[in-house]
Amino acid sequence: MTDARVTVECLRPTLRDAHGRVIRDLRISITDRCNFRCAYCMPETGVTWKAASELLAIDEILALARVFVSLGIERIRLTGGEALLRDGVVALTAQLSKLPGVKDLALTTNGYRLEGYAAALAEAGLNRITISLDSLKDDTFYQMTRVRGLDRALRAIELARRYKLAPARVNCVLIRGVNDDEIEAFADFARAWDVSVRFIEYMPLDGPGEWRREMVVPGREAYARVQARYPLAPVAGQSPSETARRYRFADGAPGEIGIIAPVTEPFCGACSRIRLTADGKLRTCLFSIVEYDLRDALRAGASPGELADRITAAVAKKEAGHRINEPDFIPPSRTMSCIGG
Ligand code: SAM
Ligand code: SF4
Repeated sequence: MTDARVTVECLRPTLRDAHGRVIRDLRISITDRCNFRCAYCMPETGVTWKAASELLAIDEILALARVFVSLGIERIRLTGGEALLRDGVVALTAQLSKLPGVKDLALTTNGYRLEGYAAALAEAGLNRITISLDSLKDDTFYQMTRVRGLDRALRAIELARRYKLAPARVNCVLIRGVNDDEIEAFADFARAWDVSVRFIEYMPLDGPGEWRREMVVPGREAYARVQARYPLAPVAGQSPSETARRYRFADGAPGEIGIIAPVTEPFCGACSRIRLTADGKLRTCLFSIVEYDLRDALRAGASPGELADRITAAVAKKEAGHRINEPDFIPPSRTMSCIGG
């Protein structure tokens, strides 16, 4: 590294935890509401949504985002709940994309409402989109999400490509006996549609509390099955802090396969992520059982410096890793839809 680059690196503000990990990624949940009821995420009856007054207002999200960015956050992902249910999502995107220091602005969505938003989001400066798609079969899609939405999810992927919200990524949560018969079909899909299909292990973050270890399809199994059909090669230059191990097709076909294996092969050692919930709590791990308030402090008039101190102190206490595989594992009290995946 040249001297000049070393200097620039030293000048970058850096949020660091007690384990030496540098935090550069922030996921912001902008609503706890959702129009789907994915069985692995929330109960069929839904959860009790928070009152609007409890959620951060758009300008509050922005104020906190400014503080996070001043501390060294470079990549922001908007999520939920379903982010496209939140009024003001386009305006928020436009403001965030203009923050100096934000190098990457992404959104995770179930895609159902993307038709009405894709052009405006692209115009507002969104860089990338991830669309959840757990099945290519109408009935299985319905079984998993409890919504007849396969056509709209596919349309959303088309829109992501059309508006260059790329590389378009597809998240597929694998559940044993439900959609694990589709691994090869998803590999075909990745190639035919030129998208990155990311197989995600089912995590114990479901609303109904029905998660069982036997329901998890290990990432290495998904990898082996794709590899048997189409030889894979690791994508060059991956960052260890990425959640997915990424592979390209060795025959040069378009598309990509990602393996996200938080249960069987935890990647906590390289984690660079923190989360802001829709009601303004900072979570230092998906599986945190403690949260740090930022909303009430902001509403009580805390200055950016005071908020920065709170964030820095919380990050210092970031958990070494999740404890899914430990006998004393305690699942978080909130479901994935409330935490912001
Ligand atoms: N509603 C949006 C969506 O579904 O894309 C964004 C929020 S959702 C909580 C974010 C991601 O978390 C989705 O890709 C979803 O599949 C994933 N997810 C939710 N519950 C999960 C679980 N129990 N295990 C693994 N992934 C989960
Ligand atoms: Fe909603 Fe996303 Fe959870 Fe499905 S995974 S219920 S779309 S928040």
